[in-house]
Amino acid sequence: MTRVDLVVIGTGPGGESLATQAARAGLSVVAVDRHLVGGECPNYGGIPTKMILRGAHALADAARLPEIGGGARLLPAWAQVAHRIRSEATDDWDDTVAVDRLRDAGATVHHGIGRLVGPRRVVIETSTGEVHEYEATRGVVLNPGTRPAAPPIEGLAETPYWTNRDAVATETVPERLIVLGGGPIGCEMAQAFARFGAAVTVVEPADRLLPREEPEASAVLRDAFVTDGITVLTGVGATSVAYAEDVFTMHLDSGEAVSAERLLVATGRISNLDGVGLDAVGLDPSALQVDDRMRAADGLWVIGDVVGAGAYTHLSMYQAAVALRDVLGQEGERADYRAVPHVTFTDPEVAGVGLTEAEARAAGIDVVVGSADLGASSRAFTYGPGAAGVVKLVADRDAGVLVGATVAGPAGGEIVSMLVLAVHARVPVAQLRSMIYAYPTFHRAIETALPEV
Ligand SMILES: Cc1cc2nc3c(=O)[nH]c(=O)nc-3n(C[C@H](O)[C@H](O)[C@H](O)COP(=O)(O)OP(=O)(O)OC[C@H]3O[C@@H](n4cnc5c(N)ncnc54)[C@H](O)[C@@H]3O)c2cc1C
Repeated sequence: MTRVDLVVIGTGPGGESLATQAARAGLSVVAVDRHLVGGECPNYGGIPTKMILRGAHALADAARLPEIGGGARLLPAWAQVAHRIRSEATDDWDDTVAVDRLRDAGATVHHGIGRLVGPRRVVIETSTGEVHEYEATRGVVLNPGTRPAAPPIEGLAETPYWTNRDAVATETVPERLIVLGGGPIGCEMAQAFARFGAAVTVVEPADRLLPREEPEASAVLRDAFVTDGITVLTGVGATSVAYAEDVFTMHLDSGEAVSAERLLVATGRISNLDGVGLDAVGLDPSALQVDDRMRAADGLWVIGDVVGAGAYTHLSMYQAAVALRDVLGQEGERADYRAVPHVTFTDPEVAGVGLTEAEARAAGIDVVVGSADLGASSRAFTYGPGAAGVVKLVADRDAGVLVGATVAGPAGGEIVSMLVLAVHARVPVAQLRSMIYAYPTFHRAIETALPEV
């Protein structure tokens, strides 16, 4: 048994950052990952998918040129995207650079499975068959992330369906693609593959795309998908899936069937907390409570998607900073989730912060909403095709502050930032109304929506 200060199980963005900074602060740190240091984001998530979308949206902009200033011969070339993902994003799914960075900071890094075997005690079985046992005097940080969930649809498990990992690693664009799930990952990948030439069908059991977003934003995205030639089937579930002669056939509860060479399942994620030995410290992975210092127990911190406060890289890193302060015994801000931003990087981007109107009403807030058609702004008029969108503000009437906001539109993920500040800092609505908004910008639509709240 080796005694160290801290063991970090799972090195997603938060775990990697926390382990690095704890080691730089002088703690003896052991970090273990069963796959790649850095986790899902750089290897299979945010980074490679945004590289794909960059290419897809550039192609779409080029196709708009005849209406706004020229022409272009479109030659979609997936090979260039695959090359960028392989060489720039993932180093061919080799984490040597990330491991070296962590070691340079002073941490001991293992590739293997980490498991709690008691309070502050961890066993690591490395990928080369070694077993290490550590006692972590300050404690253990869990950052194990999630894995793709597949719904219990008849026949699905026996088929070679894609998850996000296969989608970002593919070397070719399928002729036809079914995307099961119209959430953020499903929508991003549906539009990306469509813009690279695939005939895409999205199957979403809820009655709209991005069901957790404001309905107005879902409607904007649906229109964009129709323009892209994507078949959007909402309010429809899959009853069975079969795979024969290289073709998937999905039967739907509407009585229809859809076929394609590839099927991407993007129907949510399952927590990996079930594999970290929480039972050894008397905790139930399905009912874990994490406090605002990211503590699940004395000497046990939990960060990242498994906390359940949102599955975003920026949140994993935010929680890492909160947990690190506690590990180091420093005072500082506790975790506060009122103003968590999120962006779906479709075109138009759909970005949000805080509560939707429905969530605010469910929370018992006396809600007042304001909205503006971003497509009716002067900026949209000058922009031309692709400038549809909406801004929606959700305010607490009594407090006179915004509790949530949504921006769907070009650069929606950037425009939302001022609304993140407004929700976070509780800027009075009256003060937001008194500001000057540059002309002609998309963010001026916020000024248009403000008189209503
Ligand atoms: C397709 C896709 C696109 C996304 N796009 C965005 C985006 O645009 N913006 C955004 O903010 N977020 C995005 N996300 C979400 C983002 O990837 C995650 O929120 C982010 O990776 C943070 O996850 P995490 O810190 O919980 O851990 P993860 O990144 O999931 O990493 C967890 C690590 O723990 C390891 N592990 C698990 N169990 C053990 C064990 N017992 N022992 C050792 N190691 C273990 C795993 O191998 C893994 O490396 C996307 C996700 C996906 C799938």
